[in-house]
Amino acid sequence: MHVGHETPSVPLDGALDAPARFDGFERMPLAGSWRRGRAGKLLTDHDPYSGDVLVEIPAADARDVDEAYRAAAASQRRWAVALPQERRDVLERAARVAEARREEIVEWLIKESGSTRTKAIFEWKLFRDGLLEYASHPFHAEGRILPSSVPGKENRVYRRPVGVVGVIGTWSFPLHLATRAVGPALAAGNAVVVKPSSHTPVTGGLVIAKVFEEAGLPPGVLSVVVGAGEDLGGPFVEHALARAIAFTGSQAVGRRVGELCGRHVKRARLELGGNVPFIVLDDADLDRAVDAAVAGKFLHQGQTDLAINRILVDARVHDAFVARFVPRVASLRVGDPSDPKTAIGPIISRARLDDLLRKVDATIARGAAVLLRGQVSGLVLSPIVLSGVTNDMPAAYEELFGPVAPILRFDGEEDAIRIANDTELGLSSAVFTRDGERGARIARRLEAPMTHVNDWPVNDEAHVAFGGESASGHGRHGGRWALDELTSVHWISVQETRRRYPIG
Ligand code: NAD
Repeated sequence: MHVGHETPSVPLDGALDAPARFDGFERMPLAGSWRRGRAGKLLTDHDPYSGDVLVEIPAADARDVDEAYRAAAASQRRWAVALPQERRDVLERAARVAEARREEIVEWLIKESGSTRTKAIFEWKLFRDGLLEYASHPFHAEGRILPSSVPGKENRVYRRPVGVVGVIGTWSFPLHLATRAVGPALAAGNAVVVKPSSHTPVTGGLVIAKVFEEAGLPPGVLSVVVGAGEDLGGPFVEHALARAIAFTGSQAVGRRVGELCGRHVKRARLELGGNVPFIVLDDADLDRAVDAAVAGKFLHQGQTDLAINRILVDARVHDAFVARFVPRVASLRVGDPSDPKTAIGPIISRARLDDLLRKVDATIARGAAVLLRGQVSGLVLSPIVLSGVTNDMPAAYEELFGPVAPILRFDGEEDAIRIANDTELGLSSAVFTRDGERGARIARRLEAPMTHVNDWPVNDEAHVAFGGESASGHGRHGGRWALDELTSVHWISVQETRRRYPIG
């Protein structure tokens, strides 16, 4: 069946005209049209580096949330039965819109989330590559036929969308992290309502909606509600029409979202904080390890869930590692994120910066040595490197989410595994050794569910299982794992012959 929406403005073939820039971000796509929220409050979107106001958005309230979910449920029925190629084409065209608007999107990431240009381009690629991967999903929704213990019966298992998915996003990689839930959800035939972080309403929601609109997604299938989490969070999660919630954010809020989902018996996919160990074994190639440690710690000022939280170095190579690492870190250029040479831009907010400095000071008070002490200028913090850190110090046991590198010393691989696993926040991890099989052996004993041998821990590929364990969350993004999360299965049995029943 054809879903019957207007001809998309972006054709699959042929050259694209240079598009006019997206505008109108004081409105949000609610139930099929762009309008202002009705909360009677303004949400002010700031550039964290300059402090400039980017846009003031009249925030949504519970009535807007309700309208968005109702429209989503109504339009989802038609979207779910669209031919797979129609859903694929919308996602492919979205990737082409992303291509055509690369510079515009990168600029928004720089000014709204304080991304350096390097990080913004890195995130844009994750966004574009993700859309292309999700475009392949509609043709991969397969069912199964299973044997039956009942004579004359055939068991079939069909796969179908869950219905309406609510996506709650964060600000660190706003565009990519929201889209990695929105894209597969749409590909599977779901409708979606997104609540972006208040720090990044544009790149975490409104830009995504503009891209899909230009790609020809039928109105109402994707809505965005902009507003503070404490105001909108409850109505957003509890709404009866939201059959699944995909949440990315902190452990504290994630637990509350998970509790609410439990109370209303709906699916929760939670992607929460990480405490990523980076292990340098005694036989590591130290130059390669230092390259990966610098990038894996300081990309986006350390504000990613995959950023290295603890650098664990074998005592035999500790001093040699430190002697290479500290000067490299000291040479990172700090400041204006729009300058292409800048490696470290601003922290997202004053509250986050103060919290980070509290963890650093408490760790120094507990006896850590300061190898490099960063200075604060506005919201920019230049790198801090601490050594002599142990797992009972805040910089090791708390998630840092900032440009602070604690170095821990260990004695042999058993000690490394013990220290690395001493966290509830298992997400990504890395091991450096010249012996790849030794690395893989150790990787299999790490509780973090993603481990990269001789690489940084910041890997995210749209076709591979991505997610955390234990207090870092559950559920998986990527490839067919995402398909499983965002669909449900329907057991249909067909009884072809007359059956003998146990009674009657
Ligand atoms: P946060 O928990 O403060 O906010 C996340 C989202 O929840 C925002 O959209 C916010 O508005 C919303 N929210 C706030 N209160 C709410 C409520 N009561 N009900 C419902 N929603 C509510 O987290 P943050 O500051 O945006 O993100 C930082 C955290 O996210 C870090 O811990 C980081 O590790 C984690 N993170 C995890 C992943 C992952 O894939 N595992 C990726 C990126 C970030």
